[in-house]
Amino acid sequence: MSEGGGLAARGEFAKASVRDAEVGGRRVLARVDFNVPLADADGGRRVVDDTRIRAALPTVELLGDRGAALVLVSHLGRPKGGPDPALSMAPVAARLGELTGADVRLAPAVVGEEVEREAAALAEGDVLLLENSRFEPGETKNDPELAAALARLADIYVNDAFGAAHRAHATTEGVTHHLPSYAGLLLEREVRALTAVRDDPQRPLCVVLGGAKVTDKIGVIERFLAGAEQILIGGAMCFSFFRAQGHGTGGSLVEEEGVALAREVLERAEESDCELVLPTDLVLGRAFDAATEVEHLDGVDVPDGWMGLDVGPRTVERYGAAIGSAGTVFWNGPMGAFELEPFAAGTRGVAEAVAAAPGFTVVGGGDSAAALAEFGLADRVDWLSTGGGASLELMEGRKLPGVEALMDRAEVEATGRK
Ligand code: ADP
Ligand code: MG
Repeated sequence: MSEGGGLAARGEFAKASVRDAEVGGRRVLARVDFNVPLADADGGRRVVDDTRIRAALPTVELLGDRGAALVLVSHLGRPKGGPDPALSMAPVAARLGELTGADVRLAPAVVGEEVEREAAALAEGDVLLLENSRFEPGETKNDPELAAALARLADIYVNDAFGAAHRAHATTEGVTHHLPSYAGLLLEREVRALTAVRDDPQRPLCVVLGGAKVTDKIGVIERFLAGAEQILIGGAMCFSFFRAQGHGTGGSLVEEEGVALAREVLERAEESDCELVLPTDLVLGRAFDAATEVEHLDGVDVPDGWMGLDVGPRTVERYGAAIGSAGTVFWNGPMGAFELEPFAAGTRGVAEAVAAAPGFTVVGGGDSAAALAEFGLADRVDWLSTGGGASLELMEGRKLPGVEALMDRAEVEATGRK
């Protein structure tokens, strides 16, 4: 971890850091990514997985230690057009209180007079968690009035929500037009680690892509055809490639829109120095079901009546060898339907290879991260990104609006603005 940590800290980062902000005695509005899974348990709604809350603790604790009064804001799920009690931040406030030992108060809304009164009454070290930002329809529209109302709650803004940084919303972008805006510690580490992989990897760079759809990952495939030594493909996405090559895909999940894209990628791979590798064997099932009949296929022509639900052992061995000899590994997307035990071996094998790899290893993506955690390997990689869409967009080379909007470090140093 130490070597990787060093590398993770090496990537470029031009934005002003919360470490350099003067926050003592001031109110800080911090955008965090507390979009965590909830479930009904023990007579109430509870946080099922607090990974994202724990990931924000370094910034929350730094601000508290330095005497800031803290106003936290996040979105949670997808409420439809207004407040939804099932998506209240209340369980998150409870969990954050347990993790920090602080008395975390929950605001009655996102913005408004009552919230302004509560924010104004905060003392050093106090924590106020705003309600789910998506209870305000202006959040996803980046409504300037909502942004101004948010800014009235604080003197300084910090963005630590890397997972939401690819969206220009009121809490990630709009509010930066009103307050001095800094990067949180998590957001900075995410950008550094992912940028290091993208722009300055130890060679060879091996990119492992799986998951459901080619269209989700096409930008990353194109980017790395011109920058990686190898791209290893797995997951349902490989069936778009097999269809493009004329193989039978049986009842496998094939994204029709992805077939033409896959064909183009195959053509481009011919001319590029990057080796595009597809599975050579598969695990088949009759249906997307853990109790279905299971068969190994030595080859990739899926017969009718079967669907390809995982990559086979020969493929795992080959992918594992490539991962093990890479200088840098970036993995996004499971190799199969890993939620179903008979089809988890491919994803587990790749996860174990990434965990054991001597190179710098970065994993991004909601389901890949969940798979890694499920296999107990989350702390065996150099960087496990908390951002799915955001990590893919950064890898594609796109600018993230929530990062771009923050003050440049050079600008802060030149003007002394804090
Ligand atoms: P990530 O969140 O890591 O980016 P995706 O969301 O793209 O990953 O894809 C994850 C989903 O893809 C999982 O729910 C998994 O069951 C599904 N999946 C992977 N391979 C297959 C397959 N061969 N057939 C059907 N579903 C698959
Ligand atoms: Mg997913």
